[in-house]
Amino acid sequence: MIPLEEAQAHVFAQITQLGVTTLKLSEARSLFTATPIRASVSVPPFDNTAVDGYAVRSTDLRGASLESPVVLQVVGTLAAGESANLEVGPNTAVRIMTGAPIPEGADSIVMVEDTSKGPNDTVLVYTPTSIGGNIRNAGSDIASGDVVFPAYTEITPAVIGSIASVGLTEVEVIKRPRVAVISTGSELTDEVPLPLGKIRDSNRPSLMAAITEMGAEPIDYGPVPDDYQQLKEVFTKASKECDAVVTSGGVSVGDFDYSKKVLEEISSNQMRWMQISIKPAKPFAFGMIGSKPLFGLPGNPVSALVSFELFARPSIAMMMGNPNPFRTVTKALVPEGIKRSSDGKIHFLRSTVRFDQNGKLQCEVNVGQSSHMLSSLAHSNALAVVPDGIGIDKNGLVEVMLLARVI
Ligand code: AMP
Ligand code: MG
Repeated sequence: MIPLEEAQAHVFAQITQLGVTTLKLSEARSLFTATPIRASVSVPPFDNTAVDGYAVRSTDLRGASLESPVVLQVVGTLAAGESANLEVGPNTAVRIMTGAPIPEGADSIVMVEDTSKGPNDTVLVYTPTSIGGNIRNAGSDIASGDVVFPAYTEITPAVIGSIASVGLTEVEVIKRPRVAVISTGSELTDEVPLPLGKIRDSNRPSLMAAITEMGAEPIDYGPVPDDYQQLKEVFTKASKECDAVVTSGGVSVGDFDYSKKVLEEISSNQMRWMQISIKPAKPFAFGMIGSKPLFGLPGNPVSALVSFELFARPSIAMMMGNPNPFRTVTKALVPEGIKRSSDGKIHFLRSTVRFDQNGKLQCEVNVGQSSHMLSSLAHSNALAVVPDGIGIDKNGLVEVMLLARVI
């Protein structure tokens, strides 16, 4: 057995970032910027009002109060999107809506809530204003010439909006990896009813979903029976057509594991077959098929997903240029403690992490920790990382790797 860090270092050392492409903003979600994004305009593009109200001169409103409102003559109205040629002179005001440009002569906006309409196009103002009050200045969000986002920024919905606000419709990004997903095993079938001895393929759908979730593109290469010729065809095609290959099954020591023979051949004996000191997911294979990394995950469904989390996910994130390719790892309180025995392995236990009444993270290890019990992983939002030894004392702290939202 080799330590997890050694296996990870071996894999990550061979991962390289993908090339750069230009995409429509709407197609760039979850990718990473390849170059800094610079604004050639200001946002907002002009001074405008933050509220519905009246554009005024603050000098006219000195001493305005509920008891002695100031009366101003309303000389016009400005809606958002309009740019009428209106001017605010002494003792006048312009009715103005949120987002409309500030008319000439005005230095502040009084909220409509602090006014009431008077007779003959007048308005009664019950409060003074200060210069610049309720005005959003040109460039106060983004100034022309600013670097809005440096390279390697994740393209989130707010990033998409900010880039759109400076008038850009395309963005230079690191390519979205196309990741082949293959399941191996003659026991896998879609046949209805399920023949005795056969099972459904659960790894392919869950791995494809995990790849989609992280912003990469899964490509389905189907289940492949344990057959030398078919395995060779699919692995060859997948590694040619995609940026990376994720396959499950046939990496441990079974009689019918033709995947080993095929992968050794097409990788020119580049594969490394590992036994890692972790539970689950002890067996794992990795190699380069030409320039394409291939992740050989164990077949047991929980092992496959844990192995994906520890090796494939961070690698694919690195290919995408993600500067933080790892899941959040933090500490949580274990009120019940965790009992285990020493076996030389780190245990990754399916757990639920929630906030307790004091807002502290608390970890509960879930029942059903066998590597075929996928539903217990489905009910978990974290893996508790329990180092080799006798476990964690009651009310001790354990490291948790967050897989989903804390509840
Ligand atoms: P293997 O790693 O090929 O020896 O498979 C280990 C266990 O995982 C066996 O019980 C397989 O039937 C099961 N298994 C392998 N591939 C899959 C899959 N795609 N979906 C569900 N179970 C699988
Ligand atoms: Mg198998």
